[in-house]
Amino acid sequence: MGIPLVRDHTETVAGVAIRSVTCEHCCEQFVYVLSREVSETAVGLLTVEPNAREAARATARENLDQQLSEGVDPVPCPRCGRYQAAMVEEIRQWKYTWMFLVGLLGFIAPFGVFVYLIGIRFQFASLSTTAWTVIAVATIVGPLFGGMMWWLRGWRARQFDPNSDDLRNPWAIAEARAMTREEFERDGPRRLLEPIVEERASRAASDLSFTHFIAVATGLAFAGIGIWGFTETGADLWQGFRSKNWPTAPAELKLAEVDTETFRKKEQWVTRETLRIEYTYTVQGQQYTGSRYRFGKTSSTNVGEIRTLAGELKRSPQFDIRYAPGNPKVSVVVPGLTSHQSMVTLLLLGCLVGGVGLCGVSQWHYSRLRRKQPSPAFENAV
Ligand SMILES: [Zn+2]
Repeated sequence: MGIPLVRDHTETVAGVAIRSVTCEHCCEQFVYVLSREVSETAVGLLTVEPNAREAARATARENLDQQLSEGVDPVPCPRCGRYQAAMVEEIRQWKYTWMFLVGLLGFIAPFGVFVYLIGIRFQFASLSTTAWTVIAVATIVGPLFGGMMWWLRGWRARQFDPNSDDLRNPWAIAEARAMTREEFERDGPRRLLEPIVEERASRAASDLSFTHFIAVATGLAFAGIGIWGFTETGADLWQGFRSKNWPTAPAELKLAEVDTETFRKKEQWVTRETLRIEYTYTVQGQQYTGSRYRFGKTSSTNVGEIRTLAGELKRSPQFDIRYAPGNPKVSVVVPGLTSHQSMVTLLLLGCLVGGVGLCGVSQWHYSRLRRKQPSPAFENAV
């Protein structure tokens, strides 16, 4: 194929590793399961780099291996409820993240001030000395504040000792995530692995159901537009469509008038003319009065158009109309649909069929994926 398609390949790999720990505080030996997931996206031209997917997968596996061999999770000892030194480091690294973010604002703020003032004046030359002073102060104060925030975060995190934290109950985490060596050798890692597999499965399912929800909602919206359109104009469109095959009867014009209506549209006065007619016709000895030129309104904002039409009708007041064979009360002078009405019909049909189709297809796709969804496989067997 000559058309290069840009595609991104996202490869996700997951793995678990058993961590064996000898408690620094009470010498208890215990294990916990470290679980990591790595996604790698490679963007490649489909025709040029057919290996992009493999490359992404290889990088992801490499990162996964590294994370599994070096990673630490804060899991308290199941006997004394305390964290190991490396775990304390891990906890401290992510403590008070909000202070890090606030500090980051300090570094970004001067650029914000600069862009804002330039945006107002549009060019450097016209920036007043006050504006330049504001920029200069922001450039000094912002990073100073940011740096202080970062230092403060580090200092507070270093002071933080999760082993003396009475607010948190380490036993709940220890119970859920750790096993003594003895327990592990007797029962194997199943108790620790099950919640991890479950959590992964429910996350995959919720990702899936979100996509499904969006697809179904879009489908329903389109189907809704179609249904609304047809309830608004469907009867006219359907009758107009059928009227082409209705029988004819001679009619006599009684009245042909033009109603004008003037309204304001986008600062301009617009005049709309609407045709109002009345005619009589006889079907099987019974006389009827009709008032329909076409199915749908016969009106125009093209001044004079409707007036001309009324004039033509008046000049030859005898013509054939069509009437509904099952209900002769319903009649029309010009049968069929206008090209505009045909287009609207096609559009509404498209919305309805497309919307219902989208719902059906995504429902089918979803139930198929649901069935195929394997319980998430880990790269390495434990
Ligand atoms: Zn311990």
